[in-house]
Order: sequence, then structure tokens, then C-alpha cells
Amino acid sequence: MKCGRFLKRLSDYLDRDLDPAICRHIDAHIKSCKPCLAFVNTLKKTVGVLRRQPRAVPSASLRSRLRSRLSGAR
Ligand SMILES: [Zn+2]
Repeated sequence: MKCGRFLKRLSDYLDRDLDPAICRHIDAHIKSCKPCLAFVNTLKKTVGVLRRQPRAVPSASLRSRLRSRLSGAR
């Protein structure tokens, strides 16, 4: 597999949305291609960080803390 084709498949690969056969091709490519391996590792880290971000909605405990702080200030 050429790097260009590999990169096109990469986001699908990270989402585990690909055919297992294609995933095996990509795994084999990563093992034999250092620039792509480095790229995948960076991307995986970025994706992991994004997935750990909490939703923009405040949690219930945060909301009750805010409410008690607001009522205490009155
Ligand atoms: Zn490559």
C-alpha cells in the first residue's frame, strides 16, 4: 500500500470503521513505514484527547454547586 492511499483510509482506520482485511494492510504498512507510524501515533493521541473532553453541558454536581454559590451570595 502506498502512503497516499494509506492516509486516505486513516480516519476510518482510527474509527475502526474499516474492513478487517484493509486494517491488516494498514497495520502492515505502519510497521514498514516510519513516517506513517509517527503520523498515526500523533493522530491517535490527538483523537484520544478529543474523546476524553467532557461534553459542553455542565455536570449535575457543577450546576448544584453554582446554584448554591449564587444563592449564598444573596
Ligand atoms: Zn507510509
